[in-house]
Amino acid sequence: MSEEKSLNFIEEIIEADLKAGKYTSIVTRFPPEPNGYLHLGHASSICLNFGLTKKYPGYTNLRFDDTNPVTEDTEYVESIKNDIRWMGFEWKHELYASDYFDTLYGYAIQLINKGLAYVDESTSEEIAAMKGTPTEPGTDSPYRNRPVQENLDLFEKMKSGAFPDGSHTLRAKIDMAHMNMLMRDPILYRIKHAHHHRTGDKWCIYPMYDFAHGQSDSIENITHSICTLEFIPHRELYDWLIAQLGIYPSHQYEFARRNINYTVTSKRKLLQLVNEKHVSGWDDPRMPTISGLRRRGYTPESIREFCERIGVAKRENMVDVGLLEFCVREHLNKIALRRMVVFDPLKVVITNYTNGEELLQSEDNPEDPAATHREVPFSSELYIEREDFMENPPKKYFRLAPGQMVRLKSAYIIKCDEVIKDAEGNVTELRCSYIPESKSGADTSGIHVKGTLHWVSVKHAVTVEVREYDRLFQVEDPASEEGDFKSYINPNSLHVIQSAYAEPALRNATFNDRYQFIRKGYFCLDKDTSEEKVIFNRTVTLKDAWAKEVKKSK
Ligand code: ATP
Ligand code: MG
Repeated sequence: MSEEKSLNFIEEIIEADLKAGKYTSIVTRFPPEPNGYLHLGHASSICLNFGLTKKYPGYTNLRFDDTNPVTEDTEYVESIKNDIRWMGFEWKHELYASDYFDTLYGYAIQLINKGLAYVDESTSEEIAAMKGTPTEPGTDSPYRNRPVQENLDLFEKMKSGAFPDGSHTLRAKIDMAHMNMLMRDPILYRIKHAHHHRTGDKWCIYPMYDFAHGQSDSIENITHSICTLEFIPHRELYDWLIAQLGIYPSHQYEFARRNINYTVTSKRKLLQLVNEKHVSGWDDPRMPTISGLRRRGYTPESIREFCERIGVAKRENMVDVGLLEFCVREHLNKIALRRMVVFDPLKVVITNYTNGEELLQSEDNPEDPAATHREVPFSSELYIEREDFMENPPKKYFRLAPGQMVRLKSAYIIKCDEVIKDAEGNVTELRCSYIPESKSGADTSGIHVKGTLHWVSVKHAVTVEVREYDRLFQVEDPASEEGDFKSYINPNSLHVIQSAYAEPALRNATFNDRYQFIRKGYFCLDKDTSEEKVIFNRTVTLKDAWAKEVKKSK
């Protein structure tokens, strides 16, 4: 099948490169900055980079782009590794841009010696003012033509901590009138007296992104360095630095950032949600982070399928979260164990059921050819869903109503004989009778009913908590709306059902298994589960649940 699929534009480039003999194998990298948890946008980049080297000979490195000491943390490093492995990918080398600090420093000296870099003492405001505009050239810094030796001495002093933050920078000497603003003597190094999560206090000068990224690619002999579109203007500088330093010619290719509607995919914004406690943490099941999706019950297969379906584009667009939900539904339908849970109970007493109780067989998953069965206890007192009963039903109402029959899933057909109410007229109980010959799988009653209800035996029910989630934001693109994106948070994104009643098989629910609560949706065990309390997260609703179950009746 995959052979027939058309190639994306990066695959086309790679196939052409391999065919032309430019490379015999390729090397890609996934380069996260460890300043937050990975989100769905990263998932798309992971699937692309690792996917390419699964398809073509070669390998992918995991490189932490850790050149900014203040925002980075080892907690993030660990979460990133964990998330990539969970997604199903393995890197060849685990690398850190900070491990190249000595090499990068050496490259800077080379540029100074070639007269291609200088130490500037202008303030950042002065540098900005001298930058010019896209239509007007910039002006040269008064420090631009320092002799090489003076630059070497000053750069050494920058490194040894002689100067305060912001007082000096190292800049490339390119062209202050360049059409590309990024080529107007870009800053290569800045002073920052800050502790780094790996290099500690060894350095007080740190390379800028442009002086670290391309060089790291070269050091690792990356053949195809894939990044998002906003780096297009950086490509010229990327190539210039490689050419001037005479190092391995890696090439940069850009694809469109992936944005998903009703959420934000920016670590900086997600960090605000965490810090300001709009969510319970990076792995809150409403977060678009890989860890949030995992906790919510998403499978790696479904996320990979989603990334595959959205593909690789050259133009930005908004991806519908509905596609993500479609992908997880499709996968969970295949693997989820079917279980019955009543969220809002109405008691049913089966007056003619005198067997005490019995164990009924019910399929774990009708979609699975090797489907196993579980036992579900049945007794004369059951809970059904309150919304599955109507005292005065409209026509074509196939659930329970006075005098009407329904099938209880994997059990019997019952008929509602009597409605019991309290003093205020609220329905408190239904008295029903069952048809003994109508047992599922051995039905000789000849009676056909259109509705099938889920149910739980009162005496055997396990009380569980259920957490239902909705979109985190009320608008499609909160980041582009006016004002603070957080003012568009959906106040009803979490709905907790404190006590739902589950069939006893769920007492042994595991974190590995996924569940379909029949007619309710897909669920998984939440990590907040304790000895006292079993907690489930709703991963996604069942599309058109009722209609489908009607068809499957019996
Ligand atoms: P953020 O704005 O969330 O911090 P970033 O691009 O700064 O994102 P990095 O950690 O620098 O995050 O990104 C690691 C890799 O993931 C980069 O190659 C980047 O291009 C890619 N990436 C990040 N966000 C997306 C996205 N929304 N769609 C596709 N790729 C992305
Ligand atoms: Mg970044």
